[in-house]
Amino acid sequence: MNKNSSNIMALAPNSPNKRETVCIFGTGDFGRALGHKIIQAGYPVVFGSRSTQTSSLIPKDAEVLSHAEAAQKAAIIIIAIQRQHYNFLTPLAEILHGKVLVDVSNNLKINQYPESNAEYLAQLVPGAKVVKAFNTVSAWALQSGTLDASRQVFVCGDDMGAKQMVMDIVRALDLTPLDQGSLLAAQEIENYPLQLFPMWKFPILLSLGLTTFFFFYCLTRDVIYPYVYENKDFSFFIVISIPNRICPISALTLLALVYFPGVLAAIIQLYRGTKYLRFPDWLDKWMLCRKQLGLVALAFASLHVLYTLVIPIRSFVRWRISSQIISQALNNETEPLNTTNAWLSDSYLALGILGFFLFVLLGITSLPSVSNNVNWREFRFVQSKLGYLTLILCTAHTLVYGGKWFLSPLSYRWYLPNAYMLSLIVPCIVLVVKFVLIFPCLDKPLTRIRQGWERNPQYSE
Ligand code: NAP
Repeated sequence: MNKNSSNIMALAPNSPNKRETVCIFGTGDFGRALGHKIIQAGYPVVFGSRSTQTSSLIPKDAEVLSHAEAAQKAAIIIIAIQRQHYNFLTPLAEILHGKVLVDVSNNLKINQYPESNAEYLAQLVPGAKVVKAFNTVSAWALQSGTLDASRQVFVCGDDMGAKQMVMDIVRALDLTPLDQGSLLAAQEIENYPLQLFPMWKFPILLSLGLTTFFFFYCLTRDVIYPYVYENKDFSFFIVISIPNRICPISALTLLALVYFPGVLAAIIQLYRGTKYLRFPDWLDKWMLCRKQLGLVALAFASLHVLYTLVIPIRSFVRWRISSQIISQALNNETEPLNTTNAWLSDSYLALGILGFFLFVLLGITSLPSVSNNVNWREFRFVQSKLGYLTLILCTAHTLVYGGKWFLSPLSYRWYLPNAYMLSLIVPCIVLVVKFVLIFPCLDKPLTRIRQGWERNPQYSE
């Protein structure tokens, strides 16, 4: 079909000459704010209210009539009233027959009622065409014009024509309608504004758990142990040294946890010999919050970089260096350069710098504005190949940093190994399993399974 002609058709209902009157029931905060925007978009607006007296708060170009009178003037009626007052619509059922009723309501709790507010409205006024829309836009955002963060308007309804009319109004307000299907989707749409960072809950709780555990772990090893055995007060470690241990440990562990569900999913698919069986719920949820896990990991890595940059200006570090120099001077001896140590130190710094650079690159490509501009293959390449490379570099950075201490009994305090040794557990597991999965004897069947092949078709339903 000719692309231009479809554009012309899509624009036609928005032409100023064709704009039909919109009726809004309810002159509350939301009704007024939406009415104001709709008038600005060029639609005549009439309010249906319990009181026909107009007030200074109501947009001056709008009429205020009784519900019945206002409804007769428009084919589309926005119900800007709380659900618990919908009963007043029952006596108006005849007037509302055939009209488009837009349900904008929200609830106080997720799944508060057995049916959605929009479905309840459709039951109360069976002759009307109910459409759910605008509930994720706030009156404040409409009034202040700060809609940049929430331009999307979720729309659903059983009548295509009615939905189209509502979506035309949404577009006229310079917002983006997102068709969510039939009225069955209304419950989900009503739950959206009540959700509190759903994808961030697990990553944030996990990082809080990790931070707390490693804080007490490092406190025991680095502050309490020297105090008990050597009577040394290192309590100031709490401010920089311990956070600078917790941050890289959490960053590395969380980064590994981004790739862990992928290898688990591969093992499950290989075991089942099909991709057509659902993963367990916990794995599905884990996979869905990988981006958030990665971003929290990046935040920890960035903090680690900042903490590391201030190391040379710390009083404790300057004292330690100067006392080493003085002790060499007093003993009249110069410590020769240890080339192995120099290599190790430069290597772990270089690995850390490269790892952090790729980590930042991963974070940038996960931003919607960037990811929307790359195709699926490019996105997979960055998030998977570069992601694994980042994990390898960061794991190697930690290994080189402390590798020579691993087997030294001196590094254990109260039988506790250095904290960074614990941080290597998950990344090493992920990398080893991933390495095994690359072998052709596993990679080939896995690729076939992911293309739809089934080892044992009885699994598929
Ligand atoms: P509101 O300020 O309390 O206004 C509701 C309006 O409903 C009242 O001004 C009144 O208008 C009418 N009303 C009250 N009791 C009634 C009754 N017994 N019978 C008939 N009409 C009655 O509420 P709102 O903040 O504007 O919210 C209106 C709807 O929009 C709600 O369903 C809400 O969930 C939804 N919503 C609000 C926002 C927001 O930011 N406020 C955002 C998204 C969705 P009259 O005096 O003119 O009759």
